[in-house]
Amino acid sequence: MRYQSTRGGLEAKGFSEILLEGLAPDGGLAMPVSVPRVSAAELQAWRALPYADLAFEVIRKFAGDIAEADLQALCRRTYTAAVYCNVRSGQDARDITPLQTLGEEGGTTLSLLALSNGPTLAFKDMAMQLLGNLFEYALARDGAELNVLGATSGDTGSAAEYAMRGKRGIRVFMLSPAGKMSAFQSAQMFSLQDPNIFNFAIKGVFDDCQDMVKAVSADAAFKARQKIGTVNSINWARVVAQVVYYFKGYFAASRDNSQQVSFSVPSGNFGNICAGHIARSMGLPIAHLVCATNENDVLDEFFRTGVYRVRKSSETCHTSSPSMDISKASNFERFVFDLVGGDGKRVAELWRQVDQEGGFSLAGTAEFAAVRAQYGFVSGRSSHADRLATIREVNARYGLVIDPHTADGVKVAREHLQAGVPMVVLETALPAKFSETIVEALGVEPDRPAGFENIELLPQRFQSLGCDVEGLKAVIAGVTGL
Ligand SMILES: *Cc1c(COP(=O)(O)O)cnc(C)c1O
Repeated sequence: MRYQSTRGGLEAKGFSEILLEGLAPDGGLAMPVSVPRVSAAELQAWRALPYADLAFEVIRKFAGDIAEADLQALCRRTYTAAVYCNVRSGQDARDITPLQTLGEEGGTTLSLLALSNGPTLAFKDMAMQLLGNLFEYALARDGAELNVLGATSGDTGSAAEYAMRGKRGIRVFMLSPAGKMSAFQSAQMFSLQDPNIFNFAIKGVFDDCQDMVKAVSADAAFKARQKIGTVNSINWARVVAQVVYYFKGYFAASRDNSQQVSFSVPSGNFGNICAGHIARSMGLPIAHLVCATNENDVLDEFFRTGVYRVRKSSETCHTSSPSMDISKASNFERFVFDLVGGDGKRVAELWRQVDQEGGFSLAGTAEFAAVRAQYGFVSGRSSHADRLATIREVNARYGLVIDPHTADGVKVAREHLQAGVPMVVLETALPAKFSETIVEALGVEPDRPAGFENIELLPQRFQSLGCDVEGLKAVIAGVTGL
């Protein structure tokens, strides 16, 4: 399996080569030269596999340059009941992603695929835990080291730190806005005592943190000498790791492989649902991919109208499903690449329009007609009031507490139910992470999984810093000695 850039510039690289890379040199994202197909016999054989072995079967199709025995061992070490232990009562952690049936609605079964049982209680652990093990493996093989530099407003940073903690050859330098995360989120990150994890509380907002990361990365000499890399959501290995649970969820929700299943995906950067698109392109019988957004509805607007219009950060609202507060969906470019038949020049032109004119329109084109007819995408948006109502309604009807992001997924899923087609909503976080909104909806604190009861009281280790790029560089160089 070789990879090309969505903007046409990358010369067929292997999986290992793009593993540690961010953007391609032409500004595009890595995509497989052709998506591998799954045969009917494979689909049948995969139905009974435990999660780790299913992951191996799916990922090996994309990662041909990693020795099979090594990849299998990495998958088995990653997807264990001990890592994904934060399941709801009654669920079996050995399932890794248990399917929780809600009930019968609209002539079909509505269920949740629990993806948030990992160490940071959000679905990003599904891919990031594998990435930690893959990075460690690739770095050891090449005798290399990597210093991950990132900015976070919550979920991504903690998922990265819990995946990279204690890994040989890797350090993590993570910037977060001081006092802007929830107490739970900062405690999760700052309580890590591993010597390879470095947290910086920046006196500023998230955009300041991101600007500092960009400024450091723009210093090419510093970046090369310090072996700076990223783990952001455009990383292709993260997308591939997420493809696996669409198969797992499909098998759990369907009677047999002749049945179609739809998935509803709470979306922000389009990484999660992009994995669903890849799974569908491989031949998994997915009817609809339901793209659910919150008030930041760039993606819903595109799927309804064919107009992709990005918003400025000043137009991005802070909502009660904060991990979806994104107005430039980076992985969306991967889908558009497929939509325009893999024409890199065309994608480059469309993203020139995004950069210079703020967006593009495919309204009225045959391509836009294919978005639904051929690729199965539909969409919807949800508001704070919808979120509260859905959390209350699901709790009253099914006795379950769901987090605000998952509530967006349920709200929009219900607008796209089809009789006889099971609808699976991806549960992207546990309610314990977003207790403020749960209290607003239900008047009670959500349950915390064992071990998280007093996380805010643990000793914290972090460094405070102003918006000082040179200061940050000096600290990094002091730590690495490079
Ligand atoms: C990151 C995240 C999302 C959005 O996922 P994308 O891959 O960015 O579309 C949704 N919900 C939660 C809880 C998240 O952490």
